[in-house]
Amino acid sequence: MNGNSGWFSQLTYKLKMGLQRFMAGRYGTDKLNNTILILGLCLCVISMFLPSGWPVLVMTTLTYLCSITVIFRSFSRNTGKRYRENRRYLALVERIKDREHRYYSCPKCKQSVRVPKGKGKIAITCPKCREKFVKKT
Ligand SMILES: [Zn+2]
Repeated sequence: MNGNSGWFSQLTYKLKMGLQRFMAGRYGTDKLNNTILILGLCLCVISMFLPSGWPVLVMTTLTYLCSITVIFRSFSRNTGKRYRENRRYLALVERIKDREHRYYSCPKCKQSVRVPKGKGKIAITCPKCREKFVKKT
């Protein structure tokens, strides 16, 4: 058979195994990383249309910061912490998308409480510590 293709498939196999070994126990990518990546790309595109000088410098620095953050998070071995970061990010997105509710944090224990919008003044009872507080929704 073709000797060249055998050599090539062996190399790709070795690379794949090496990459797998390298990524073992590391975090990889998630929604938060994708968002930072897209943000970095947007900043990069915006910087092309800016007049040269400090605005470009700022944008380029931010683009680099985004890339470094994504690389750091992907290769991080502290998977628990990265997972929690992603969870926090997803919760934030959920809040922004949610137009039917308002979010308040309990004045006593800081637990976030979700209440329906447009009900006027209501008394809220914290589900965690039972503290009562009045808010306008
Ligand atoms: Zn509370």
